Amino acid sequence: MIRGSCACGGIHFEMDAVRSLTHCHCTICRKLTGASFATYAHVEKDKFRWTSGQYLINHYESTPGSIRAFCRVCSSMVPSQAPYLETVSVPAGLLDDDPGVRPRLHVYTSSKAPWWDIVDDLPKHEKWVPGFGPESRKG
Ligand SMILES: [Zn+2]
Ligand SMILES: [Zn+2]
Repeated sequence: MIRGSCACGGIHFEMDAVRSLTHCHCTICRKLTGASFATYAHVEKDKFRWTSGQYLINHYESTPGSIRAFCRVCSSMVPSQAPYLETVSVPAGLLDDDPGVRPRLHVYTSSKAPWWDIVDDLPKHEKWVPGFGPESRKG
């Protein structure tokens, strides 16, 4: 079992397993996290459960159809489900346990912060991983 929680502890959740970890360098993730880039744990829907505080969640539509979720008390970004993904996107900074997997790739390197140099050898994608973006569910 892998547990996670927001900064104030009002929201808790748990996962049976994390499928992968990815780094996103898009402008929206950088602004929403206030960090150089955001890291997400991707979890299959049936392996993710809220355990407390779901009523504390506020939503923000960062781009049409992309809903971000936050704790109403501490403003931590909390897990959300993108309509074009099979998995729940869990901000990895919220994890209280080691997910057992390590980051696999970078996305949106085209909007990377100029002050951050990627120094690992993981695969880099300028936008989405092909086949995993919003366009994959259209038409
Ligand atoms: Zn909170
Ligand atoms: Zn992003």
